[in-house]
Amino acid sequence: IQYYTDSVRQNHADARADLEVLGAFETWIDGEWAPAANGETFETIDPVVQEPICSVPRCGAADVDRAVESAQSAFDATWGSLGAADRSRAILAWTETLREHIDELALVESLDGGKPLSHARAEIEFGIEFIEYYANVVRADEGITLPTSDDQHVYTRTEPYGVVGLIVPWNYAFIIAAWKLGPALAAGNAVVLKPAEQTPLSALYAAKLSKSIFPDGVVNVLTGYGEEAGAALSSHPTVGKLSFTGADTTGETIMETAASTVTPVTLELGGKSPYVVFPDVDIDETVRDVAHGIFYNAGQSCDACSRLLVHEDIAEEFLDALVDRAESLEVGDTLQEGTTLGPIISQAQFETVTGYLERGTDAGATLETGGVADESPVDDGWFVEPTVFTDATNDMQIAQEEIFGPVLTVITFSTYEEAVDLANDVPFGLAAGVATSDIDRAHRAAADIDAGSIWVNGSYATPRPGGPFGGFKRSGIGRELSKDALRHYTQEKTVYVSVDDPSR
Ligand code: NAD
Repeated sequence: IQYYTDSVRQNHADARADLEVLGAFETWIDGEWAPAANGETFETIDPVVQEPICSVPRCGAADVDRAVESAQSAFDATWGSLGAADRSRAILAWTETLREHIDELALVESLDGGKPLSHARAEIEFGIEFIEYYANVVRADEGITLPTSDDQHVYTRTEPYGVVGLIVPWNYAFIIAAWKLGPALAAGNAVVLKPAEQTPLSALYAAKLSKSIFPDGVVNVLTGYGEEAGAALSSHPTVGKLSFTGADTTGETIMETAASTVTPVTLELGGKSPYVVFPDVDIDETVRDVAHGIFYNAGQSCDACSRLLVHEDIAEEFLDALVDRAESLEVGDTLQEGTTLGPIISQAQFETVTGYLERGTDAGATLETGGVADESPVDDGWFVEPTVFTDATNDMQIAQEEIFGPVLTVITFSTYEEAVDLANDVPFGLAAGVATSDIDRAHRAAADIDAGSIWVNGSYATPRPGGPFGGFKRSGIGRELSKDALRHYTQEKTVYVSVDDPSR
């Protein structure tokens, strides 16, 4: 084990050494690297080996002022007056550059976010695809004309806010930044993006790769902590719109702060999503989809299907197959081919997850498989095996609260009505899975379950450009990813033009 630990540490050190760009990272304001005004920095950590990757500035209110001013100047000077076609061309030039650097971006995302390298690469591609989608959609965007009366021509214009603030979490650092950057820039805004303190690097690198493509100041990336840089950004009076993805409790704080300046907010928050399995399914296929839905990214997904509701008639067979599947997944070093689960992102999150493991057992649930990894790539690593709890009830904390780790809580049901009641009996409503070969039941369940996205018979938790994504209940406000998300980043103006009759 010691030998393994040493070689993993060495591999990660070599990977860092290969990434020359790591030495350059500061915060990105007005098209340049810059230190924080107070000179402070903090380290971003590689969670596999728990070693620093590099330091980045610990920005505060003075830096937020600088970034917002730079964004406003860029908007006023050039960006705000470009037409949609020019903006679209610039964004597509940027995505082309991002694609040219995909290997480095993937490695940066893998090291910073503790993701298997192949997953990180797929995520960078996925994020780029979303940015491209908005660069294309904006060229077809249009206002409306309204039939009112003969003596008036009435039409609407959609206009950018100017400066928008984007605050994103660590679990899909690049993808979620892309989901916001794409529509915000396509709509004509300049942006100030605050990545999570755990994973600032892919956003910084992507911003650096936009140099000379966008006018300086159109894209700013501000590194720092939520209560400092994040809070200053969300209360800044010049920011016309805020888009946030993260925990529901942080969303509440941001909404309260935004209320004081009457700034509109889009909120993408957490979930406790059910996967409902009826008895008429292909068990192996459904098991694979459920396992992917809960264990991908070590369960650190907002739309993870963390509750499995399975019909009692197939529960035993389904669970046997699920446990086999869980035990076949490879937890380990993210730079090693074949690894499917990396570590939990941080010590704090690791403690949160292990706390739930204890609470689940204390409440009387049975740990069928999983728990803290016995063998981890480094001593005392933050690795949790794919975990399955059975004998659970829906009122247990492990069934009600977002764990944000590879932990699945299984509950059985006997009737359709019971399944729907259980599915809806949580404060969240982000996503759901339904598996059945009965087409009527599939559509009925999709209508009856309170969730913003429902995947039927596979592809769980794979949103697509064009498909609105967002939450019911405590899971958020607004929908991202569809063409309508452009509306989050524009305000509508109605113009009434009097048309006099020249003959009168
Ligand atoms: P978090 O809320 O702690 O942090 C998210 C971001 O908000 C970070 O950049 C953080 O620095 C910033 N922040 C924290 N406090 C702030 C404050 N007071 N003011 C302004 N900004 C502040 O969330 P996290 O732990 O990074 O991410 C996990 C959460 O994100 C989970 O709940 C997950 O479900 C949710 N999430 C939701 C979606 C979705 O699309 N619905 C997607 C991914 C993650």
